[in-house]
Amino acid sequence: MKEIKMVDLQSQYQKIKPEVDRRIMEILDSTAFINGPYVHKFQKNLESYLGVKHVIPCGNGTDALQVAMMALDLKPGDEVITSTFTFIATAEVIALLGLTPVLVDVDPETYNIDPEAVRRAITPNTKAIVPVHLFGQCAPMDELMKIAQEHNLYVIEDNAQAIGSEYQCFDGTTRKGGTIGHIGCTSFFPSKNLGAYGDGGAIFTNDDKFAEQLRIVVNHGMKVRYYHDYVGVNSRLDSIQAAILDVKLAHLDEYAASRRKAADYYDQAFANHPNLKTPKRFEKSTHVFHQYTLTIKDINREELQKFLNSHGIPMMIYYPVPLHLQSAYQDPRYKSGDFPVSEQLAASVISLPMHTELDEEQLEFITSKVLEFVNQ
Ligand SMILES: *Cc1c(COP(=O)(O)O)cnc(C)c1O
Repeated sequence: MKEIKMVDLQSQYQKIKPEVDRRIMEILDSTAFINGPYVHKFQKNLESYLGVKHVIPCGNGTDALQVAMMALDLKPGDEVITSTFTFIATAEVIALLGLTPVLVDVDPETYNIDPEAVRRAITPNTKAIVPVHLFGQCAPMDELMKIAQEHNLYVIEDNAQAIGSEYQCFDGTTRKGGTIGHIGCTSFFPSKNLGAYGDGGAIFTNDDKFAEQLRIVVNHGMKVRYYHDYVGVNSRLDSIQAAILDVKLAHLDEYAASRRKAADYYDQAFANHPNLKTPKRFEKSTHVFHQYTLTIKDINREELQKFLNSHGIPMMIYYPVPLHLQSAYQDPRYKSGDFPVSEQLAASVISLPMHTELDEEQLEFITSKVLEFVNQ
């Protein structure tokens, strides 16, 4: 059996190696390392894949979120609502910009932000909502867009984990995750569903004005070279990463299908188990399974992890501590017990190996070892 990894980028690379290597060599020969035709080509291909008017490439997913908030001219004191059960990047940029993070709880079944909790958290200072499409499926965007419209708020989608997912909007249209709100952000970190071989990110929008502002902010706040109208940042995607991403973009739907197949296998193996609760698939969104994350009940999580590791099976905990309980984000507004769903999830989630190269033999081994421990 092939070695089991959380993410197997090596096996994936072997299948696209000739094409990737050829493109990298081409860039080395051209020396167009930054902002050349390769970045432009990938940008155009991603725009057409996503069905979005503008893609603005940038340095990474965290930058994408920061640039989005800067381009919307959010100011210190403005409140930004996001979920407490997520990766830190979202809250980090809110804090760095001097904005006020307002945390809310999530849905226990989908792990995504709870729109009713968002509604309750709105104050006259609220300016934006940042739903994170956690683990690969979209947050309830219809409800969130409705709330945003009623209260005149921006919606910035953190689509770092759900690129390629599709959402059935109430108006009957199907849209790609990250293209429903005012601005969408993504990451091309190597382990993401569309991963580079280094850092990368992108920002999406259908709005020409926002696009213009986003392009100014990522480029040192300048529209005309060496004339700086705004305080900006330097955030770029390099040509080698863009070329690799362009090769992988052509496989993205097939990659999502492989992930879904692995998830189906897990779902079936663990169905109706009293100690295991498989992740719910939200009927309005396709799931691209950035992670296969389930919850356990009456099982010692550390012991399970040790047992699986001893059999060569990696297992991760995404995420062990919700944002409001992180030391760096201590805030008198929040205390332990305030977000019971997130706290319960943080204590009971496990993530199993999930990538495009899992084969049936590996899946059989992983599920049988999980069940062996759980049933003992
Ligand atoms: C990975 C990730 C980010 C940050 O992306 P980087 O490219 O690592 O900066 C932001 N939000 C979420 C939900 C992520 O999973």
